[in-house]
Amino acid sequence: MADVLAYVLHYEGAFNKNSLGAVSEGAARAREVGGSCHAVVVGGESLTDELCCSLGAYGASKVFRARGPEGLAQPVIDAMANVIDEHGHSYALFGGGLLGFEIGAGLAARRHAGVTMEVTTVRAQDGELVAERPILQDSQISVSRYRGGLGIIIGRINAFEVVSRDGGAAEVVDVDVEYSPWSTRATMVTRGEQRGADVDIEGADILVAGGRGLGKADGFKLAEALAAALGPNTAVAATRAVVDAGWYPYAAQIGQTGKTVAPKLYLAAGISGAIQHKVGMQSSESIVAINKDANAPIFEFADLGIVGDLNKILPKLTEAIKARKGS
Ligand SMILES: Cc1cc2nc3c(=O)[nH]c(=O)nc-3n(C[C@H](O)[C@H](O)[C@H](O)COP(=O)(O)OP(=O)(O)OC[C@H]3O[C@@H](n4cnc5c(N)ncnc54)[C@H](O)[C@@H]3O)c2cc1C
Repeated sequence: MADVLAYVLHYEGAFNKNSLGAVSEGAARAREVGGSCHAVVVGGESLTDELCCSLGAYGASKVFRARGPEGLAQPVIDAMANVIDEHGHSYALFGGGLLGFEIGAGLAARRHAGVTMEVTTVRAQDGELVAERPILQDSQISVSRYRGGLGIIIGRINAFEVVSRDGGAAEVVDVDVEYSPWSTRATMVTRGEQRGADVDIEGADILVAGGRGLGKADGFKLAEALAAALGPNTAVAATRAVVDAGWYPYAAQIGQTGKTVAPKLYLAAGISGAIQHKVGMQSSESIVAINKDANAPIFEFADLGIVGDLNKILPKLTEAIKARKGS
């Protein structure tokens, strides 16, 4: 029997979507290896019985609730280590994101456990769970198996689908955690939206999307200048590669693990056209691609392809549009 413990982040009475994905995935996979999925939550009074019980709909049979600061890694590491010691979970599962990375890595160090990050698939094999992670710019898959003890699996953001069913409520178990002295040294001062979270990518008529071909975070200035020249209902979008690199916010990501859009015009600059990106933008009315590689896959589904260096083409296009509009 191999039980899975999934961490669930909570803020102002709502659970984070990635965390619900982790619980759904944990429940499905635990069933395949004859175990159960439990959740752990850390927070204050807003973690009511009713809210915790609702995790039953995603497949958690038990919710371990620790009273403590929400949204900080170290207290969660203490709480998870405590629950795992007492209940012997075989796997700890996280939905991804920076907090999941930090907690998972801390827990791995604390329990000398194996950890796999950026996991896109978890599957059962010979009564155990194995984690698959794309590597080498997603061209290969690396498979991790765990040698007994605790296995830690940290998903890629949104890799695990949220599945809710009408089902029983989860049992809520309060746990007393003795926090390590360092765990209570940090306090949450403020929480804010990520830059760009307010951008309406889905509602824009024109999207100027940038990929790794922009070269660096600053390269997005070229895309932003073009978007500004094109007019008010234009927004800047991004590929996962650049979002993962921290060049642009996740709110602007298009594709399988981002948003699906269908603008009148999708202008892709420095984007190769991977299938996971294509599924998020292929319904655009017109697709224009700028890429220096004439064999880039995006040219196979673009309406207009421009082979060349975007560093030269984007500024010229921006100037041409400004001149045309007389601005
Ligand atoms: C489970 C899973 C989910 C994923 N979800 C998503 C998703 O939601 N969205 C997404 O986008 N990706 C997703 N990916 C990643 C996807 O497979 C690709 O790795 C990613 O889309 C590549 O991004 P890119 O086109 O910016 O980078 P690259 O593939 O590196 O392409 C960069 C392109 O820029 C061109 N270029 C370089 N320099 C210049 C220049 N100066 N001028 C013009 N062109 C230039 C190059 O020729 C190249 O074609 C996912 C992958 C997996 C495994």
